[in-house]
Amino acid sequence: MTQRFSFSLAATDGKARTGVISTPRGDIRTPAFMPVGTAATVKAMMPESVAATGADILLGNTYHLMLRPTAERIDRLGGLHKFMNWDKPILTDSGGFQVMSLAELRKLTEKGVTFRSHIDGSKHELTPERSMEIQRLLGSDIVMAFDECPALPADRARITESMRLSMRWAERSREAFGDRPGHALFGIQQGGLEQDLRGESAEALTKIGFEGYAIGGLAVGEGQEAMFDCLDYAPDQLPQDKPRYLMGVGKPDDIVGAVKRGVDMMDCVLPSRSGRTGQAFTRRGVVNIKNARHADDPRPLDEACTCPACSKYSRAYLHHVFRAGEMISGMLLTWHNLHYYQEIMQGMRDAIAAGTFAAWEKQFHDTRALGDIEPV
Ligand SMILES: [Zn+2]
Repeated sequence: MTQRFSFSLAATDGKARTGVISTPRGDIRTPAFMPVGTAATVKAMMPESVAATGADILLGNTYHLMLRPTAERIDRLGGLHKFMNWDKPILTDSGGFQVMSLAELRKLTEKGVTFRSHIDGSKHELTPERSMEIQRLLGSDIVMAFDECPALPADRARITESMRLSMRWAERSREAFGDRPGHALFGIQQGGLEQDLRGESAEALTKIGFEGYAIGGLAVGEGQEAMFDCLDYAPDQLPQDKPRYLMGVGKPDDIVGAVKRGVDMMDCVLPSRSGRTGQAFTRRGVVNIKNARHADDPRPLDEACTCPACSKYSRAYLHHVFRAGEMISGMLLTWHNLHYYQEIMQGMRDAIAAGTFAAWEKQFHDTRALGDIEPV
């Protein structure tokens, strides 16, 4: 097994790319989808089950883990991999985005952010240096630079100021990360929907030098069309030979559109969160299992799917356990959703390698356009 972090591209088809990120904890096949394990668990899933869906890497949230059970406690207990029983790679976010969306009484300065915990009101500080320390204590394989991003819509002056602060923090993150063979630090491009600001950000990050580059500040309510417009140029502004990670995306068609535009990695809570609210993503679009039409339906959710929810249970059963508020409902639908997402990723990896991405994409959209199977 390799002892260093590296990325190699195996094939491209148009702007879509497939390759492998190698880490001491294992390979990550790209394009990759990372399930979100916010509080040291992918909700409703055993880690073995997450691996069985085909996930090569998980995402953990610095903000949540620093508050509870704390990074220091996880470190004392042997690190996040051991703590949560996941021995494959883990990427952690920097905490910046979640402080802005979840914490109370936030105060932003050049140094960093002070805030109060949304759990117990306790006071904390996050700076680039502290974020690097927390992610080191967690034992994260891919560490994200500490950044700040304004909620959209924001005016150009605010976006510019915020992006430049994030670039200064990126430099401090690089400095504080130090020399850690086998671990990677990713810089985060900001700049809202402004092409020239995205370009300025990409240039600043490339000058500092990172093992990978994220596209931040998207999927924050701008809509798919605006996001794709930005992705028509943003990945091209980043180095060709390093992984590109689009943060917080998305729905199945967002993911396909992002890979088409040159993105290598993504993460989103959607498949797991939707699994707990009775929503399933299938080849033929979204199925709401709570709908009465499923109550007598003996057929599987998706007859072509090989996940446990589809191979062993009927729509009628899934409908019943959801209505009855049984835990197995969230477990089965989350498993199905994560399985389906990984199947999309595998389909795209194979198609890019074969040079048939356009045909794969057409089939993906055509099948979705059919809509769900007719009711019984
Ligand atoms: Zn399934």
